Amino acid sequence: MLDVDTKPEIRFRDPALEPVWDKVASGERLSEAEGLSCLDTQDLIGLGRMADFVARRRSGNRVYFTFNVHVNPTNVCVLSCKFCDFQAKAGDKHAYEFSIEDIVGQILPEVHEVHMVGGHHPTIPFEWYEDLIRTIKAERPSVQVKAFTAAEVDYFHKRFKLSDREVLTRLIEAGLDSMPGGGAEVFSERIRRELFLGKVGADRWIEIHHLAHELGLKSNATLLYGHIETHAERVQHLVRLREAQDESGGWLCFIPLEYQLGTTMLVPRQASPIDDLRTLATSRLMLDNFPHVKAYWVMSGESTASIGLNFGADDLDGTIGTERIAHAAMADSPLGIQRDQIVRLVRSAGKVPVERNATYDVLKVYDA
Ligand code: SF4
Repeated sequence: MLDVDTKPEIRFRDPALEPVWDKVASGERLSEAEGLSCLDTQDLIGLGRMADFVARRRSGNRVYFTFNVHVNPTNVCVLSCKFCDFQAKAGDKHAYEFSIEDIVGQILPEVHEVHMVGGHHPTIPFEWYEDLIRTIKAERPSVQVKAFTAAEVDYFHKRFKLSDREVLTRLIEAGLDSMPGGGAEVFSERIRRELFLGKVGADRWIEIHHLAHELGLKSNATLLYGHIETHAERVQHLVRLREAQDESGGWLCFIPLEYQLGTTMLVPRQASPIDDLRTLATSRLMLDNFPHVKAYWVMSGESTASIGLNFGADDLDGTIGTERIAHAAMADSPLGIQRDQIVRLVRSAGKVPVERNATYDVLKVYDA
């Protein structure tokens, strides 16, 4: 185990990491160039030890997870992002729209968090989304609702001609507890034009999250990696997020999301576990103002996520229920896992499982 009070000795194979370690150990902020050295390094073990040191300095031995369910109300979407295997057009065989009753039926009364995101539906009225949250809160009073990405909020703003403030205020009044981090993809205008034109860019995504923070919501942030982005663009994304967090302090967790090849096949090969771990560790080292970094087992697989708990991650997401977005792109992880399986995963990484809700209140510590 690393001692976080003194600077442990790490023998680096890559000399570019030595000055990075000096700064990390003394709590100094890393530059963009140093972030790139981390992401480019072949010294995976040295990089991981630094990131684990930072994670332990923040969270000790704890790894957080939640008993949650992912709900995707509809896959019908007016957009056609090139990396997305989930979306359908109205009338497609695989298009679906759940009723509010269907959705409530997917949420066990004892879960702590419902994570809810979906397609940009062309005809569902805004009031339906308000009713949806109100009904969930009425029928499942102990469940926190984490819902609607900044991309969906932007769509509501455009489609219903409501200001961002009105959209968010009405959703909060209906019972919204926090916002997920999706829709950010990569903060690169080049990639937005290439892959997800029509969806929010970096400025709008950050603007909406900042407003949510001002209105009292906490939120998460993501990075979709492993497609056509460069390492430099990944690091620039982290730097931009770090600057935005300096302004509001409202992000709780950062989640690197590994692109799933599915049928979209933007690149010939899925990101390797080594790339997953490098991205996770570099994120932990660069995002010095983010409380948590998550190893999202749904996209990286359980084994890599478990190793990620020693590469800077202090969160594993949750039990999930039935995940549809990554599995539409043929992710080969299970659809959901059991609570005791997560506890086992965390313990096998030598850490202490801590069950939390969407806003990171501690609900149970699983002592040895
Ligand atoms: S990523 Fe989201 S916005 Fe883009 S096509 Fe898929 S469902 Fe629609």
